[in-house]
Amino acid sequence: AGAFLGGDRVSGQDIRDQNGVVYFPTLSAESTNPLTLVIAAQSIANIVKSSLGPLGLDKMLVDNIGEVTISNDGATILSLLSVEHPAGRIFVDLAQKQDKEVGDGTTSVVIIAAELLRRANELVKAKIHPTTIITGYRLACREAVKFLQDQLSIKVDSLGRDALINVAKTTMSSKILANDDDLFAPMAVDAMQAVRTINLRGDIKYPVKAVNVLKAHGRSARESLFVQGYALNCTVASQAMKKRIVGAKIACLDINLQKTRMQLGVQILVDDPNQLEEIRKREAEITLERIRKILAAGANVVLTTKGIDDLCLKEFVEAGAMAVRRCRKEDLRRIAKATGGQLISSMANLNGDETFEPSYLGTADEVVQERISDDELILVKGTKVVSSASIVLRGANDYMLDEMERALHDTLSVIKRTLESGAVVPGGGAVESALSIYLENFATTLGSREQLAIAEFASALLSIPKQLAVNAAKDSTELVARLRSYHNAAQKSPHGDPKKAFLRYGLDLLNGEVRDNVAAGVLEPTMGKVKSLKSAYEAAIALLRIDDAIQCVPEQQ
Ligand code: ADP
Repeated sequence: AGAFLGGDRVSGQDIRDQNGVVYFPTLSAESTNPLTLVIAAQSIANIVKSSLGPLGLDKMLVDNIGEVTISNDGATILSLLSVEHPAGRIFVDLAQKQDKEVGDGTTSVVIIAAELLRRANELVKAKIHPTTIITGYRLACREAVKFLQDQLSIKVDSLGRDALINVAKTTMSSKILANDDDLFAPMAVDAMQAVRTINLRGDIKYPVKAVNVLKAHGRSARESLFVQGYALNCTVASQAMKKRIVGAKIACLDINLQKTRMQLGVQILVDDPNQLEEIRKREAEITLERIRKILAAGANVVLTTKGIDDLCLKEFVEAGAMAVRRCRKEDLRRIAKATGGQLISSMANLNGDETFEPSYLGTADEVVQERISDDELILVKGTKVVSSASIVLRGANDYMLDEMERALHDTLSVIKRTLESGAVVPGGGAVESALSIYLENFATTLGSREQLAIAEFASALLSIPKQLAVNAAKDSTELVARLRSYHNAAQKSPHGDPKKAFLRYGLDLLNGEVRDNVAAGVLEPTMGKVKSLKSAYEAAIALLRIDDAIQCVPEQQ
């Protein structure tokens, strides 16, 4: 088990051509050998591993129409690759699942899974049956999760708001927001705390979707800001309208309120010019009738994704209502959800008449148009069902803004997980090192064949601290050995011994040292770590179970 302490092993076969283009073997008659599964998985991990950690590098991805994406996020990178090999695709899915469920740890999960698979493959070559390996891995994963939750996890309330900010900073550390984390970390924490909601069952929820992220070109990232309420990058349709409505009843429409025109191709023969005028009048009236129905239902704020006829604006002004056109559909969908209303795409009911029920309306304390550093924004405040918050991001160009948005989204998700589970673990390879020592010891207590698999599981986890050190241009072998010696001492000492604190030790990547990462504020949500361990294990054994890959004959026409 201690065999790991060698130098950097080259893991798997790197299949790149001279130009560095990664090549995936496609599944063909020659590649039905399960070994190609391992190679495919390995090459996926090789692509993302240099981006792990705060000092990891970014990838530039260019698609076939020349669109460029620059990212450091494992899930984003992998989702843009065109991966043909089925095993590779399982790994891409793995990263996406992690991104969806936790928001972070996408690179780590792929690296661990690939390493588990590679080591399993070595065991298979040494004539250990895959079933034994699977049992061993399962045991190891279960024990690891138990140890992680019982010994390594720390309650957030004992660390306070700082813990949340530190969790946010740790996630941001490898991303574009890292330089301004003193601004963005508290902002993200505020936003998540602002959307705290208690659902019908009495559970406290922190919906990430209730935080609206707006992107605005120009100015520096430091001028990004947090606003209470759901912000829309729109203005009221007419200057004569009210700019503030208290006790808002909001209609969210996906209906065009422009003058209805007769469908193209409809021909009407008229023999009197007055009739033509009649038709025109009627066309305008249809829209007016719709607007009156909406206002009669009690709406005082009308938001639509489409247009509103200028001639109809008077109607809103006279009713003292606010109307906003050309809103984004996604925004209206979320506002409808947050205010308890519905996004209405047609006013026709089953009888073919047009109606608008008061129950379609959402409720909010206030809707107001405000000037926020140069921009006029519509803010929906005090939404009834789910509270909302918005973050206006500023950046020089689209690439930056997109990457900022992805980083912010990851951060928000991680804060959500931390708030919901209430526990954190030290980052920087602390957990992985502690678990590797624990599992090695655990393996030796077993007198069965699974021992070997558990020891390999333990070593596989070390790929994280090792890769972190490599990416920081530090001596990974020495650093990881030192880290392990601390964790060994911590686990050998009895309760109450000051050495127990070594359990919190992880890497200090800037100085190439080992330090208490709880004190240094490198924290990650416990739930994310547990999820990534479990998913890595699941992906590895899913591939391990395969002993033959068979290409199906395409159906004969
Ligand atoms: P992932 O996509 O897996 O989240 P990241 O590139 O975000 O990958 O890197 C996360 C890893 O970097 C984690 O293992 C985390 O503990 C580590 N890490 C983050 N910040 C620091 C830091 N300041 N010092 C040491 N390790 C850090």
